[in-house]
This record gives sequence, C-alpha cells and structure tokens, in this order.
Amino acid sequence: MEPLTSLFAVQSKPLLIAGPCGAESMQQLESLVIELKKIPSFNLLRAGVWKPRTRPTGFQGYGVEALSWLQEIRKRHLIPVAVEVATPHHVEEALKHQMDVLWIGARTTVNPLVVQDIVSSLSGVNIPVLIKNPIHPDVKLWIGAVERFLNSGITQLAAVHRGFYSYTPSVYRNPPHWAVALDFKTQFPQIPLYVDPSHICGNRTHLLEISQEAFNLGYQGLMIETHPNPEKALSDSEQQISPDSLIALWNKLVVRNPLSMPSNRLSELRKRMDEQDRLFFNQLAERFKWVAPMADVKKEMGQTIFQLERWREILLTRTQWAEELGLSAEFVQKLCQLIHDESIRLQQNQWNQDSLE
Ligand code: PEP
Ligand code: MN
Repeated sequence: MEPLTSLFAVQSKPLLIAGPCGAESMQQLESLVIELKKIPSFNLLRAGVWKPRTRPTGFQGYGVEALSWLQEIRKRHLIPVAVEVATPHHVEEALKHQMDVLWIGARTTVNPLVVQDIVSSLSGVNIPVLIKNPIHPDVKLWIGAVERFLNSGITQLAAVHRGFYSYTPSVYRNPPHWAVALDFKTQFPQIPLYVDPSHICGNRTHLLEISQEAFNLGYQGLMIETHPNPEKALSDSEQQISPDSLIALWNKLVVRNPLSMPSNRLSELRKRMDEQDRLFFNQLAERFKWVAPMADVKKEMGQTIFQLERWREILLTRTQWAEELGLSAEFVQKLCQLIHDESIRLQQNQWNQDSLE
C-alpha cells in the first residue's frame, strides 16, 4: 500500500479517488475494486457508509457493517480507503476499522460546531482528511473547517470542490462557481485541491467537461463516484459511472502542469495585457470624474440619485456595445452593475458630505 504521508503531496500525476456513493455489499465493492485496480493511477477507494440523505426515505448506508466490508477490501486488495465521517462516533468507528483517510461532507463543513467535534475526536491522530466545500458558496466556512484541522495538528489535508447548491435551475446539480474554489486556492495554495465532478454534475453528461475544466485550472485530483452497475445504485444512481466509463474518461483527460514555467512568449503577451489594463483604469478614472458634477445637478434639480430609466438605458446600450465588440453580455452587465454601484456610493457620500457643511 502506498505510504499515506505522501498521498496528498503534490505529485506530477493527479490523484484518482474512485468508488461508489455508498458501500452496498461486499460483492459490489469487490467487483468494483478489481476493475478499478486496472487503472494505474487509481490510488484511493472512496465509499460512504453513513449517507447524509436529504429525505429519510433515501438509502442511509449500512454503517458499521459496511465498514467491516471496507476493512476486508482494504486488506485483500491493498488499497487505501476513504470514508465520510459526520460525527465523533463515525470517527471512532472509522479508526477502529483501519480506514486510511476520512472525508468531511458538504453538509458537515457547513456546521462549525460539528467540524470542531470531529476535530476534537481526532485528537493526536494525524490521519489524512479530505474537506469538501460547504453546500452554499461561502468560502469562509470552507477555510474555517481547514483552520480547525490545522490548529489541532492535523496537517495531511486536501480540499474537494463538489459544487454549490443553487435554487435557480441549472444543468448542474450543484453549479461549480469556480471563483469560490479559486478564492480558496489563493488563500491556501499549499492544500491540494481536487474536483468531485459527480456531485457537481448530478448526471453523467458533463463529467468529462467539468473534470477537464478543473484540471485546466490546476486541480490536482479527481474524486469520482463509480459503481459496477450505476443504474442499480442505491444512491446517486444518475451520476455514478462504471469502471469502464471511468477508464475512458481518465484516458481523455489532459493533465496540466500546475507550476508556472517562465516563458518569453507569455511574458510578452502579459505585457500587452498590462498596458491595456492601464488604459482601462485611466478610462475608468476619467469616467468617475463626471460623477461629482452630476451629483450636483441632480441635487439642484431635486432629483434622486438612482434613476431607473437611466439605469435601464445604460444596461441596454452597453449590452449592445458588448455584442458589437464580441464581449459576453452577462460579463458586461456585471461590470456595469459594479460601476453603477460605485457611482451611487460616491454620490451618496457627496450628498452626505454636503449636508455636514
Ligand atoms: C458523497 O461524496 O457521497 C457525498 C455525500 O458528498 P457531498 O458531501 O459532496 O454531498
Ligand atoms: Mn453521492
């Protein structure tokens, strides 16, 4: 078995964590692992035994009984095993059954008190831990969970990006909101970041696309739900894939080098971008110079700062310009919103200032 101290170390090849959503039987695990072991990069089996299901009617996992199957699989096939823990009792049982890696699910990361209980129950045990992002896009909760583990001396940590709940319809079960994960990466560059395309997608259609997008951003591993017979899976059957499909996906993935190599061509292009950014900021500063006299006119005429008709006109014209220039309408609208918000803030400040004089 690979020494686990190196499991999360940044390696030249990405880490492949695969296995079923839930451990369903010894036979399911056995037939799955035999197939998965044909992939040379497969280095960690995942399986849930306590499933945090939204509805009580869903498959809840087989608990401690399933842990003993995993313990046997681990011994028979010399493969490290990761299991989800959501309470100190889970931790105790997982350690008793020699689990190699623990993972904190999205519904747990969201609750600092539960995370702290888990951390405390691990006192003195430096086991590798995977921390999934919280269900909603709050990077601070994700960071907070990592800090709780680090503070208690658990240093073998990796983060898993599994997307975020969204109330608005989306092709994804949990849209990725890449910016949140990149924010996490910016604040914790030393913690390996893996993608869980299964829970992002919620189906099999976009798994390769999401995995590739993650690797394009420098992610260092993949946690993917795999089942010998996905359609028959007791949980998350729409998103699990067969070992054969995983092999096909893995072979298509292009792995990028997460380290930045010096390149003259890239430096040259970046210099051009720097020049354009400078011009863009000069333009912005010029634009904001007109805010003060405008606020004066509005005030003199007894008008409001926010004027709906004007705001609509800005959005409409700028969206048209964006289209003419080949820019994304959505992006330009977001930018306009930022500029408009800043303009309103400046006008409010100015009026507040005037009333003090
Ligand atoms: C899982 O990995 O099976 C799981 C429950 O994931 P999440 O916590 O991301 O929903
Ligand atoms: Mn699942």
